[in-house]
Amino acid sequence: MSKDCDEALENLYLYLDSELDSFSSARIRSHLDDCKGCGPLFDFEGRLKTVVKERLDEDVPDAVVDRVRTALREEAATDLQ
Ligand SMILES: [Zn+2]
Repeated sequence: MSKDCDEALENLYLYLDSELDSFSSARIRSHLDDCKGCGPLFDFEGRLKTVVKERLDEDVPDAVVDRVRTALREEAATDLQ
């Protein structure tokens, strides 16, 4: 994992929620386009988030989100090793 990967992963959820400023967002987007490690992970998380929102049509309890998030991180860590 490069330093750019660390930064991208740290900002994953902010990026998906569009809570980053345009400069940071563009920086991460360009990293994702180039990085074979992060790109697929972000795509997956983005799709998951969309599906969860569509299915439930209401706020997902934080506990559920945390569990999904933890599972995804563990899976991602395994894939990237
Ligand atoms: Zn990366």
